[in-house]
Amino acid sequence: MPDALRTDEAFALDLDASDPLRAFRGEFHLPLAGDLRRTAATAHSASPLAIADDEPAIYLTGNSLGLQPRSTREALMQELDDWARLGVEGHFHAQHPWYPAHEELRGPISRLIGAKEAEVVAMNSLTVNLHLLMVSFYRPRADRYRILMEDSAFPSDSYAIRSQADFHARASNGAFNQRDAVVRLVARDERTGVFATDEILGAIDRHADSAAMLLMGGVNYRTGQVFDMARITEHARSRGIIVGWDLAHAAGNIPLALHEWGVDFAAWCSYKYLNSGPGSVAGAFVHERHLGNTALPRFAGWWGNDPSTRFVMGPDFVPVARADAWSTSNPPILSLAAVRASLALFDRATIAALRDKSVRLTGYLEQLLVSGWPRSAERGEPAPLEVLTPSDPKARGCQLSIRVPGRGREMLSKLLSMGVVCDFREPDVVRAAPVPLYNSYHDAWRFAAILRDLAASARD
Ligand SMILES: *Cc1c(COP(=O)(O)O)cnc(C)c1O
Repeated sequence: MPDALRTDEAFALDLDASDPLRAFRGEFHLPLAGDLRRTAATAHSASPLAIADDEPAIYLTGNSLGLQPRSTREALMQELDDWARLGVEGHFHAQHPWYPAHEELRGPISRLIGAKEAEVVAMNSLTVNLHLLMVSFYRPRADRYRILMEDSAFPSDSYAIRSQADFHARASNGAFNQRDAVVRLVARDERTGVFATDEILGAIDRHADSAAMLLMGGVNYRTGQVFDMARITEHARSRGIIVGWDLAHAAGNIPLALHEWGVDFAAWCSYKYLNSGPGSVAGAFVHERHLGNTALPRFAGWWGNDPSTRFVMGPDFVPVARADAWSTSNPPILSLAAVRASLALFDRATIAALRDKSVRLTGYLEQLLVSGWPRSAERGEPAPLEVLTPSDPKARGCQLSIRVPGRGREMLSKLLSMGVVCDFREPDVVRAAPVPLYNSYHDAWRFAAILRDLAASARD
């Protein structure tokens, strides 16, 4: 980024013209601003900055629900046709045979998250996977039973973790006190909610004797902060603590190296940055060192059994020595087809090139938002908006969490009336995620102009 940032529209268009990934935008269905306004019964803003009804909306919620790849429909139609034409024979003779359908995803998933193929599996949904993995990896003892997590975790993670602590406490007949089993780490910087890595390492040290497991979000959904997963994992494991990561906001957003970092387990969903459709099949990672350990407790099902003996149909479970051992049921093929179509785009673009664009695109948006508020500076006042997400590119992915003081929930409908889709967290934070696969620099430029306009008018 040049020191003197060019803030003109022509510069945004130049950046798009020289973007090596620009063609990927055409691989997605971009919702039209008019369709979204009509659906939400939101009036068209009279502002000259507003996106016209027949233009694509500025869609900045790929961190919540990724857009649909154009190739997804065909992938789903193929499965429906194969089912119609072949019935049960589709298990082995569909274009993408159903019986090994999850195996086809091992390559793309392992490249995306930095794992060996044996360490990953597509299965279930995210919270279910967290439960299945905690059943194996949360092994509380009377003296070592605590779970470390971040206080700002996504609610589903809080519920899953709390309920695992309660379940295990009951199953152990009160061998430990479930009331103090969950340790929720609060960021010292309450204003932004952003952690210094040392705070987390310090908490690990303080609880080193009593903690059994650490389970955190790799990228915090609220602040957009990327945690130093390598250091935190290494530090916690050196204290004998099992480490799991919820990668809902990390998978497809930042490069990961789960195997190399020594992470014990991880899970993620596929409908956010992975663009596989609402509620689509999630993923799970289990480190190689745990594969083939038949002593681990687990909730078993036939799809986790060694495939060479699966159809012997005997009463005893023989876990296969791969992450597949945690899958219980045969997977939903329509959903896997959507994951397959989407991950093919990631393989073509590569996560390294996506990250490269993402760092530039998010950095560009941040600069457009925060720079040039001369009147605020003159009056000695803070600017009318503030980016809470860390500005160090290593400590964030594509999401920016932007505080707009004095502007509550009505901000969201104001943005939609302008043709912008963002989301909002109480009391005054707008989350915007320019996604390198389908968002453009021009999207970022138009969004910045619109948000600055709304934020400035809020104060005057
Ligand atoms: C989106 C998200 C979830 C959602 O869980 P599902 O089981 O997919 O409904 C859970 N945890 C985190 C951190 C998330 O960001």
